[in-house]
Amino acid sequence: MQNFLPIAYFQNQFVPFAEAKISIATHALHYGTGAFGGLRGIRDPQSANNILLFRLDRHCQRLSNSAKFLHYDLPADKIQSVIVDFIKKNKPEKSFYIRPFVYTSDLGIAPRLHKIEKDFFVYGLELGDYLSPEGVNCRISSWHRQEDRSFPLRGKISGAYITSSLAKTEAVESGFDEAILLNSQGKVCEASGMNIFVVRDGKIITPGFDQDILEGITRDSIITLAKASGLEVVERAVDKSELLIADEVFLSGTAAKITPVKRIENYALPVEKPITEKLRDKLSAITENRDSNYKHWVYEVPLA
Ligand code: PMP
Repeated sequence: MQNFLPIAYFQNQFVPFAEAKISIATHALHYGTGAFGGLRGIRDPQSANNILLFRLDRHCQRLSNSAKFLHYDLPADKIQSVIVDFIKKNKPEKSFYIRPFVYTSDLGIAPRLHKIEKDFFVYGLELGDYLSPEGVNCRISSWHRQEDRSFPLRGKISGAYITSSLAKTEAVESGFDEAILLNSQGKVCEASGMNIFVVRDGKIITPGFDQDILEGITRDSIITLAKASGLEVVERAVDKSELLIADEVFLSGTAAKITPVKRIENYALPVEKPITEKLRDKLSAITENRDSNYKHWVYEVPLA
């Protein structure tokens, strides 16, 4: 059972989570016409009355962009102010995850985005590790990520997650932990809810924006951090065979943080993962506000 934070934002007001309910006729439920964000928050280890949010501005901007695909004008600063108020009302004690969501809230029957009511809600839940920090075994999915010509991949559109769900279930039901999806060109794309990185000969390689990936905020952070520590980063198409002979492979996402990959199908990856570990330590220090060079990535919400 999930531990939900007690207060949600729903229909322009803060209400008890249990009272934030929608109708079975809700348009978005039928057509996947929603879009969401996902942020992690923690209590500041240095100052217990502070909540820390990692790259809040980026998350709000991506959701605002996603909302545009739904023909919904929701400015990033509006999203940000609701999230900050949401945290002040909930005062979460443990590590948590915030799920802001925009959707067609109308009860109308036809698929469309024009002349239809929209709403924006926010709720949260306590969240520890999403994937095992020890690492995961991955299956190459038989499901491919959608292409941008049939799906707005720069949005985090809820309907797209049928593919992620099929891939994840296929992987888990066949004895793996996670799925790696290829894109429509057969190149490596991402996991069910994470971007992917490959390390070969000390160089970091990750599929570029032309590979139908989600523009992950953790991915962007890792690229910046890796370059700042003098590592070479190449954004380009990645073949499946490159994954299998890599020195290290890791997944990145808000929920998954940096998760090492231990095995891809029947190919075991090396046990030593120095670059993955180095980046993971660096990212944890930043999210906990322990790195003075990256304080601009951490938004502090004072609770007092
Ligand atoms: N790809 C997909 C499909 C995702 O759902 C996520 C999680 N938001 C990511 C990548 C990673 O994105 P981020 O680092 O912004 O969480």
